[in-house]
Amino acid sequence: MNLKNSKFYKRIQELRRFSKEKIRKDREQRTSARLDMALSEQRPRHESDLEWSSSPRRRSKKTKGKKKAASRLSGGKDTHCSSPVGDEIPPDAGIQSYIQLNDKCYRLACTRQVPVKSSRDDDRSISESKSAICVSNSRYAMIGRISKTLGYKLVKETKLWNILWSDSFPGVELFKNMKRFQQINHFPGMIEICRKDLLSRNLNRMFKVYPHDYKIFPKTWMLPADYGDAMNYALTHKRTFILKPDSGAQGRGIWLTNDLKTIGANERLICQTYVHRPLLIDGYKFDLRVYTLITSVDPLRIFVYNEGLARFATNKYVEPTPGNSNDLYMHLTNYSVNKRNSHYELCDNDDCGSKRKLSAINNWMRRHNYDVEEFWTNVDDVIIKTVLSAWPVLKHNYHACFPGHDKIQACFEILGFDILVDWKLKPYILEVNHSPSFHTNEQVDREVKRPLIRDTLNLVSAVLADKKQIMREDRKRVKQRLLKTKGEALQRPRVCNGSTKTECSPRKVEPEEDQDPLAQQVAWEDSHMGNFRRIMPPPDGTKAEYYSQFYGQTNQVSIFAETAASKKREDLARKMRLQIEEKKAKQDQMLNGRSKTDKRKRQLVILPRAVREKNRVQLYRLQEHWVPGFISEAEERLRHTWLQMRTEAIKTLRITENVYATLYEAGNLTNTDMVVFPHLYQHLQNGFDIKQHT
Ligand code: ADP
Repeated sequence: MNLKNSKFYKRIQELRRFSKEKIRKDREQRTSARLDMALSEQRPRHESDLEWSSSPRRRSKKTKGKKKAASRLSGGKDTHCSSPVGDEIPPDAGIQSYIQLNDKCYRLACTRQVPVKSSRDDDRSISESKSAICVSNSRYAMIGRISKTLGYKLVKETKLWNILWSDSFPGVELFKNMKRFQQINHFPGMIEICRKDLLSRNLNRMFKVYPHDYKIFPKTWMLPADYGDAMNYALTHKRTFILKPDSGAQGRGIWLTNDLKTIGANERLICQTYVHRPLLIDGYKFDLRVYTLITSVDPLRIFVYNEGLARFATNKYVEPTPGNSNDLYMHLTNYSVNKRNSHYELCDNDDCGSKRKLSAINNWMRRHNYDVEEFWTNVDDVIIKTVLSAWPVLKHNYHACFPGHDKIQACFEILGFDILVDWKLKPYILEVNHSPSFHTNEQVDREVKRPLIRDTLNLVSAVLADKKQIMREDRKRVKQRLLKTKGEALQRPRVCNGSTKTECSPRKVEPEEDQDPLAQQVAWEDSHMGNFRRIMPPPDGTKAEYYSQFYGQTNQVSIFAETAASKKREDLARKMRLQIEEKKAKQDQMLNGRSKTDKRKRQLVILPRAVREKNRVQLYRLQEHWVPGFISEAEERLRHTWLQMRTEAIKTLRITENVYATLYEAGNLTNTDMVVFPHLYQHLQNGFDIKQHT
């Protein structure tokens, strides 16, 4: 039986149509009632205002159009007021319109939307516009979940995302292809402070120039280059040294010694004086994980999260002696090291446990009469100075990678600063992590990291860029270029060469908005700080002046210009610039419709092919995206267990013997099989059934 022809089915369809119709009518009624309420009803003062049109047919058409426009206006959030016809409309009123309802005429005046809105409006606009975020390159499911709750749409990397959240450092290619509305959670060049050796080099350089200001890290030598210096120091100072692999993490390969002679002259290590009198809580050593958000490098804008983690060692601290210097549970505070100790303490209470919140540490300090405010001012100082030590590179790389990013900042980054505090409450920078762990194994992790991610996503300025408008503008630009005559010079945004000249600032490219995007960003960030505090630019004018000396371009350039590494950096930046210019020139040529031969000629003029190829290879080698991926110990152990289980299964099920015998019987054994498994071959030759026996 055909169900669609049945009476029952037809009746259901009828009822459905009826209810739909009813819902539509109800909605119409509600809309008109709302309009009636929203508009202040008044007879027009001038009858002429009612003269819409001479022909009734046209009038109804016109009225319909106006009505539609008005309902759109009144329905939209832009509508702030209405005024009856004849009323004075303020000169700053943006849009004016007429509507006619029930034989009455109204004039609506709608002010323009203000660029910086209240936080509630903003939150709404996030969810309405559905900014897209790509988290497929992150192993932390929490980031996707929080983004979703904030109204972000999760998309793949191939889609037009607004934010790309990646655990590893992306390649330069990705930076270069980013659209003007896109943001990524890493800055090019942040590796300068995120690798131990580069951090030490930068801080050592700054220490040489500003010896009084840059006492923010333990004395550090990079071996083998500084082997002689370290030995000289060891001869004159009786100190314990801590030795670390130059790009290690999670406490791997770290040991203590007071005899540097035991180190090979060619070993690549970071050697540091050991802070032997750290601040102790309950007799345990600890370090602080301070989460820092950078939203812009030029101008530098740094925010510090008020909550963070204190990670404790799990054996009570005793100053290092040859007897205890092997005790990593006493001297190292890494979670990855201490979680293996049976004394590792999980605790729901704020004042116990091997991982505690910064707020708990602050409370402890207050109870012990330490000046908490002053302490955090010193921590902020350490963070600012650390970032400033790499600032010229950060700024240079940013401008080289994003010459046309004029609407919002192309990057933001959460950094994990590891800070060790000594008994005098002096903070020392130990390490900066560009992808701090967002694992939430413990309650304390969840309480710190979830709000951190949420506040970060609320603070970053991705929502300020209108994706659709930018795409429209870009299309328009392309169209305009296509319409230009061949010989005409194109109006393109200038590629910034990373110099400090203001006319080359990417923000100055084709200003199309009334308000400077940077001003918008500043206003947005300052009104969406959540639990962050802004440390750069500092709220205090005298401090801003103090830090301005470290920006000192001439000084910085002379410090950085001397080494081979700095030359390499310059080289890389130059090549990147060339690539961008080359790419743009190619696009221009294509858009101008030049002939193929012409194009080839131009390419040859730009750079010989061999040079371009060499540059490409060098660039690839110099790229920073080779940073080794994260290896989880737990996953490794699991993999190991699975491998063992597989080997065991192969043995017990006698898979090798079965396959071998089958091949033997079919006459398919190769010479290699006979050489590799001689005993099996021998058994088969002797007539044993190897499928059953050993
Ligand atoms: P990793 O990246 O492997 O974690 P870190 O530099 O962070 O290496 O050092 C690991 C731990 O060793 C730190 O958490 C800290 O407890 C301890 N540590 C490192 N450097 C020093 C130092 N100079 N003085 C005292 N303790 C240190």
